[in-house]
Amino acid sequence: MTRIAFIGLGNMGAGMCANLARAGHAVRAFDLNKAAIANAENSGAKGAASVAEAVGDAEVVVSMLPAGKHVLSVYFDSDGVAAHAPKETLFLDCSTIAVEDAREAARRAKAAGFAMMDAPVSGGTAGADAGTLTFMVGGPDDGFARAKPLLEAMGKNIFHAGGSGNGQAAKIANNMLLGISMIGTAEAFNLAEKLGLDAQTFFDISSASSGQCWSMTSYCPVPGPVPASPANRDYKPGFAVAMMLKDLHLAASAAKGAGADIRLGELAEAIYTQLDEKGFGNLDFSGVIKDVRGEI
Ligand code: NAD
Repeated sequence: MTRIAFIGLGNMGAGMCANLARAGHAVRAFDLNKAAIANAENSGAKGAASVAEAVGDAEVVVSMLPAGKHVLSVYFDSDGVAAHAPKETLFLDCSTIAVEDAREAARRAKAAGFAMMDAPVSGGTAGADAGTLTFMVGGPDDGFARAKPLLEAMGKNIFHAGGSGNGQAAKIANNMLLGISMIGTAEAFNLAEKLGLDAQTFFDISSASSGQCWSMTSYCPVPGPVPASPANRDYKPGFAVAMMLKDLHLAASAAKGAGADIRLGELAEAIYTQLDEKGFGNLDFSGVIKDVRGEI
């Protein structure tokens, strides 16, 4: 049993926090939203009235916050985690944030005497609820060894990607590939259909051929071939355009800093930006096929 402070009980954090409590850990939960704290209490955690109260006797702090500015503020403001956590507490941030913000957070934590790991996830709210997330972890070896048993209560694939920020690097590179491959898959279905194939026939052929990819076989953007994909429920997310766009912005800015050529990544960013600007930020990202077909 580990004493855990969990901060950020939103769409993702709620399920993750519940899984830690279910695994027998003593979880103190905090969020700015009181209803989220009440929900966490219903799933086995104990609510806290502030960050200070949540982390006061924590061995590990887990956070699941919207973006880098929230993470830096929650950990390093004068009333934040680093000011109130006992020495030796491990910081484990699972939010998706910029590589540079994650490295900055790890540096500031180290200067204050704490180890901080970045541990962003893949798997969405369904994975968070089911405890089947994939974690991509950056930070020192001893921090990874301490974090692993807790991550296993929330996920099924746990990867140590290297030093601080490498978890975020893996996450944004993966999601950039996902954004690109979904547009490519949508274009391939549209082309095949325009040339006279029905979608199922093209799926049967391409999913057994060299064009096969996750966007086709697990998350197919046309209704029918993959019954669980959002295409079968009018592109209700799933993983919304706005969230894909957040990750593509992070990838574009990281690529700029690193001098990496991501021409297709930038094109994907532009295509999802247009969708968002047209008011489709809440559409599942596979709904880009509607744009490719000229339907929206
Ligand atoms: P969310 O907006 O539902 O939850 C964030 C929570 O943080 C909210 O409950 C909010 O009240 C709380 N919060 C914000 N500032 C706070 C503060 N200062 N102190 C305490 N609580 C604070 O977001 P989400 O969908 O749960 O996503 C969280 C993170 O996970 C994001 O970085 C996102 O990119 C990443 N992510 C999301 C998904 C997904 O499918 N939703 C998938 C993978 C990764």
